[in-house]
Amino acid sequence: MAGYNTILLAIDLSDEADQVASKAVSLAKADNAQLHIIHVIEPLSFAYGGDIPMDFSRIQEELQQQAEDQLNTFCEKHSIAANKQHIVIGRPETEIHALAEDLEADVIVLGSHGRHGLALLLGSTANGVLHGANCDVLAVRVGHKE
Ligand code: AMP
Repeated sequence: MAGYNTILLAIDLSDEADQVASKAVSLAKADNAQLHIIHVIEPLSFAYGGDIPMDFSRIQEELQQQAEDQLNTFCEKHSIAANKQHIVIGRPETEIHALAEDLEADVIVLGSHGRHGLALLLGSTANGVLHGANCDVLAVRVGHKE
């Protein structure tokens, strides 16, 4: 099997992200591939819709700054260069697919929880990414305690 050239690692910055990153880093080393990383920030307006007459822009900016700081620290730890880091605002599935297309990634690496048996093996983001992807998707099983 031919190796991968471009890997896109999707990270939610949770405690389990290190496990997912370690797999992607190993894969990139083994295949001598380019490793890109994406973190998607979901706008607060997605959570609250237009129902609450409040301006979320200040909080949104702070969340974004925090996410950028966390992603930098995370990438330093895993030796992922600044020009391979992508932080975007939107829906995770949509943005992960869009960047994978732009980069012509041949695999997306993400985490999967598998907490609730086979039917719910994949979480919602993992499921959404898998279904719309035009490339391979590697779901790294994380956080299971059974
Ligand atoms: P979930 O399906 O929400 O349990 O998430 C599964 C995996 O999708 C996570 O382990 C990450 O690899 C990826 N993911 C979830 N949310 C995001 C996000 N906001 N940005 C980038 N990747 C994400």
